[in-house]
Amino acid sequence: MPKTRKPDVDAGPPTVMCKPAAMDCVFCRIVDGTADASVVHEDDRLLAFCDINPVNPGHLLIIPKIHRVGLVDLDKSDGSQMFVVAQRLAAAVRRSGLRCEAVNLFLADGPAAGQEVFHVHLHMFPRYRGDRFRLDSGQRPASRTDLDQVAARVRAVL
Ligand code: AMP
Ligand code: ZN
Repeated sequence: MPKTRKPDVDAGPPTVMCKPAAMDCVFCRIVDGTADASVVHEDDRLLAFCDINPVNPGHLLIIPKIHRVGLVDLDKSDGSQMFVVAQRLAAAVRRSGLRCEAVNLFLADGPAAGQEVFHVHLHMFPRYRGDRFRLDSGQRPASRTDLDQVAARVRAVL
């Protein structure tokens, strides 16, 4: 059952899971219990809760408990576990009775990608035909030459 986490005024100081520099981070405040969240999953490394502005009901965010801004500083094991949790939550949302014909996973890494909260998070949200979410960048097919050049540039620095 989803539960609402609320600050517990009787519980004394919360366990701080992040550096003091990150205490202005809303997701760190959710982790340490000083901000509300509707939690669906918690383990020793990760937390998952409902997005406050859902694309569709069932829109969840999966975050590391430790403050990490983006992919470059995200612990590899946390990154892979975020995907595992997203898979599990996607299956749960499909079973939940919420409208869910399909699922999108989305991660914005950097402002130009649309990142607004600078504590890395993986979105998992249900989709159905006719919903209002649109991701249309107007992309066009590239030539094999261009694709090979791009692939070579990436391979060169792996
Ligand atoms: P992004 O644009 O990928 O950085 O997405 C940030 C997401 O965090 C948005 O979808 C917001 O609706 C969501 N968000 C911001 N503050 C909260 C909060 N306090 N609780 C739950 N979701 C939040
Ligand atoms: Zn944070």
